[in-house]
Amino acid sequence: MTHPDCIFCKILRSEIPAKFVAESDTVVAFSDVNPMAPTHILIVPKEHIASVNELDDKHKHLVGEMTILAKKLAAENHVDKSGFRLVMNTGAGAGQSVFHLHMHLLGGRAMSWPPG
Ligand code: AMP
Repeated sequence: MTHPDCIFCKILRSEIPAKFVAESDTVVAFSDVNPMAPTHILIVPKEHIASVNELDDKHKHLVGEMTILAKKLAAENHVDKSGFRLVMNTGAGAGQSVFHLHMHLLGGRAMSWPPG
């Protein structure tokens, strides 16, 4: 279920500290260590899945749970009305640096489009 060398799996095993803001049976959320916005939370499945490329039909509920949790955390952090962005970088070319599936919740500042 967890991967020995994965940094997010180490956080899930409490081998590395993190500021947890939510936990369910299948998903956790913690603050990003290098925030790119006033609100920057990572929503992370407990199962080690490398990226969106590895998702299949059995993960439908999991991805839905991640998205609904992101919505709730956006409201808790008062960025639901001002606007927020959910990002799942997939592959090194898109900026993915941790190969354990995660959704970024970014908010609290104006954001431009297209992203860099
Ligand atoms: P990505 O580049 O999309 O794979 O996102 C990985 C994110 O994980 C980056 O925003 C990092 O700042 C964040 N990150 C890496 N290590 C940690 C850690 N130990 N605790 C919290 N966030 C981390």
